[in-house]
Amino acid sequence: SPSIVWYRDDLRVGDHPALHAAVERGEPIVAVYVLDEESDGIRPLGGAAKWWLHHSLASLADDLRDRGVRLVLRRGPAGRVIPSLVDEVGAGAIFWNRRYGGPERDVDAGLKSRFADDGLEVRSFDGSLLFEPWTIRTGSDTPFSVFTPFWKACLAADEPRHPLPAPAELDGYGGPDGRGGPAGDDLDEWGLLPTHPDWAGGLRETWEPGERSAARRLRAFLDEDLAGYATGRDRLDRQATSRLSPHLRWGEISPHRIWHATRERAAGAEGARKFLAEVGWREFAYHVLFHFPELATRNWRSEFDAFPWPRLHPSALTAWERGRTGVPVVDAAMRELWHTGSMHNRARMITASFLTKNLLIDWRRGEQWFWDTLVDADHASNPFGWQWVAGSGADAAPYFRVFNPELQREKFDPDGEYVGRWLPDLDGDDYPEPIVDLKETRAAALAAYDQVKASR
Ligand code: FAD
Repeated sequence: SPSIVWYRDDLRVGDHPALHAAVERGEPIVAVYVLDEESDGIRPLGGAAKWWLHHSLASLADDLRDRGVRLVLRRGPAGRVIPSLVDEVGAGAIFWNRRYGGPERDVDAGLKSRFADDGLEVRSFDGSLLFEPWTIRTGSDTPFSVFTPFWKACLAADEPRHPLPAPAELDGYGGPDGRGGPAGDDLDEWGLLPTHPDWAGGLRETWEPGERSAARRLRAFLDEDLAGYATGRDRLDRQATSRLSPHLRWGEISPHRIWHATRERAAGAEGARKFLAEVGWREFAYHVLFHFPELATRNWRSEFDAFPWPRLHPSALTAWERGRTGVPVVDAAMRELWHTGSMHNRARMITASFLTKNLLIDWRRGEQWFWDTLVDADHASNPFGWQWVAGSGADAAPYFRVFNPELQREKFDPDGEYVGRWLPDLDGDDYPEPIVDLKETRAAALAAYDQVKASR
């Protein structure tokens, strides 16, 4: 009886514990990806994420086919699609790597208990995080709410496992081309790519989704940029960071591989420590999401519920989205996002601070825009990052620390290269005057914050 490997946010062949378990079980393998936009509470993917998913699935399908397995694509609520596939192929086992969001865990737990009654072997694995959220706890057995002691506890825990090798050959159910196996959808018919208009040109120029490209990116980063990472990572005008985030988001590379490759290269060096600590922020965001599944919709610090968001000024939101606020570094960053589906971390902080503190627009509006436009739009890191900047999140920047976009620009783009690249119209007549006064709006934000303080 075949083993089903259910692919989710882990679109790779190497270091894939669920696939590895299926190989060990020794029966023919059915690999499936389910596009589920219907289960309760599942957040529909944004446009840039869909673009990435399309290409990542195409790449995974190639890599599996080369090894003798066809990737089956199905669409619909997983709670219905998976059991029907189990019946169809007479599966004896189903394996998957864990997810950590609330609705996703509900789906998985529902299936686990349903299959338990059928005598099917169901097992889940640690494929996406270095440290499982229930294993890292404070001395008083609560989840951490501050990063530094959290990461210290991670570093003191057992070292993450070594990556598993990619299987060279697989025994595909229904033969290597899958013809004798279950039918699946045609990826092109899922409509994940934009057509009218095709806005993905900048994404194609910037990115190459897929596991092989992720491995190349890691190697290039370790060879060229790791040594200078600690000092260069904040510079907007340099590409000094790894740019691995979309590959990690879609699981084309595991954090375990990144961890061990980095340690082998430069254990103890400042760049390696700093880089792994950033990967640690991703872990922290996931742990926070695990313990607080409403991260994308509710303030982590509930006293922020008293924050008096003024009534939304739609034109201000649109100016921010389009990169027409008249504040150059903000506009450059928003155009980088629109063109490439990504944005430098410091630029994310600057633009998020500007939206929430100078425009006084609810962080959830900005989070949604990022969700729609980022190729690495992540269930944990995106709402976590927004709440961190807004002041409502775990270990957040203190509210009164309002980024000054002009000073940020002087410090992190000293020669104006970044702004020049994304804002060629800066000196033209059409470039807008600033839509708000930075000083006045900062004062207004601090006054609004007094209401949060008063409610504590
Ligand atoms: P590197 O500096 O090379 O870091 C290596 C890896 O560590 C990254 O690939 C990423 O997985 C992780 N990482 C780094 N910084 C952070 C961080 N602050 N929080 C969590 N993980 C981190 N990251 C996403 O992956 N998806 C998002 O949707 C996302 N939204 C964000 C929204 C806001 C408002 C902010 C302030 C940050 C957000 N981040 C998000 C975090 C961070 O900006 C990106 O992970 C980083 O810019 C990716 O570039 P890199 O891969 O070159 O990072």
